[in-house]
Amino acid sequence: MSVIDLEKIQGASSEFVRDINRRIVLNLIRTRQPISRADLARLSGLQRSTISLIVEDLVNEHWVIEGPTGRLPRGRRPTFLRLNDDRVIIGVDLRPGETTIALANVNGKFTSQEVIATPTDAQAGVDVLVRRTQALVRSLKEKKVEGIGISLPGRFTAGHLVFAPNLKWRDLDIRGPISRATGIDVELENAANACVLAAIWFDGMESCRNLVVVTVSEGIGAGILINGQLARGLNGMAGEFGHVPLDPDGPRCGCGSRGCWEVFGSNRAALRYYHESTSNAGGLSFSDLLSLADQGNTRAARAIEKMAHYLGRGMRMIVAGLAPERIIVIGDLTRSWHRFGPVIEQEVQAQVLPGGVAPRLVPVHEDGMARLRGTVALVLQKHFGAVHEVTG
Ligand SMILES: [Zn+2]
Repeated sequence: MSVIDLEKIQGASSEFVRDINRRIVLNLIRTRQPISRADLARLSGLQRSTISLIVEDLVNEHWVIEGPTGRLPRGRRPTFLRLNDDRVIIGVDLRPGETTIALANVNGKFTSQEVIATPTDAQAGVDVLVRRTQALVRSLKEKKVEGIGISLPGRFTAGHLVFAPNLKWRDLDIRGPISRATGIDVELENAANACVLAAIWFDGMESCRNLVVVTVSEGIGAGILINGQLARGLNGMAGEFGHVPLDPDGPRCGCGSRGCWEVFGSNRAALRYYHESTSNAGGLSFSDLLSLADQGNTRAARAIEKMAHYLGRGMRMIVAGLAPERIIVIGDLTRSWHRFGPVIEQEVQAQVLPGGVAPRLVPVHEDGMARLRGTVALVLQKHFGAVHEVTG
């Protein structure tokens, strides 16, 4: 976001402006380091005095360190600034099936990752997260752990999961036990919202004020950035397009309803379409199905096309309702974007109303990394007031 954009924000409080300026400066240091104060002023358009004050705070808070000293023509010797990578963040990507626990520095670079099986029992799940995060924190004696960010396959309120139909952990405090055991603040976020944060913090989409992330895996999730704000809704439930029934007589969904979008457009749906067309499906995974299609299996290709068609149909709700500039699509399906992209694109284009503009569809590969980077952004934004939330 540029300074000019800030002037457009009517009635922006000084604290809000300060938070945004801090984030702009931090992001410039992160992406251009080592960088001098003069270059920060030039690139941000902020006053030199403002830059000096922000940098002084960042240095005092140990986010930023000074050095080395540069050399410019005519004898000027500016001090370069860079992020202090002794400050680290623990990111947890909790998913049905498997959970990744990773360590990142404040640059968003991951230095270690551990994958464990996600227990189906909720209490056992929280216990294992407590043990693993505690062990990781203990092993990091030299570093300062800035926070633990957790990406969840569902919606939560007050640290409790309230809706996670594919995980089936209910009404359980996740934040409290981990925070008490480690002595470190824990931030939770829905997986799709975490991907929104990752896009804004790490993928150069800072200036995009209206975007929707659609995550496609066992289910379909959506994270919504509208007018530059993350939409959360009452009880944190905003974004559940995946549970809007497209056909009330359709197959039963994990949420208890029938014929939801995710029953027709998720990875599981494609496997169901394939199973329906052949008696010889075995224990096929979605990834296997994509490979089969690439090997010329027409049944697999048809199952994928049907899933793509339903994905596009569901996205019409998003296009008509939210008019985003971009729809970021995340999931294993992006591996076969040549099959999914054109079908989804056609549906999305067909939904653009007179006067509207079609959103750009952006497939993101490495879906696990998007969620993990989102957990880092989650902790960073606590200190830098990145995206202001709309709460219900
Ligand atoms: Zn449902």
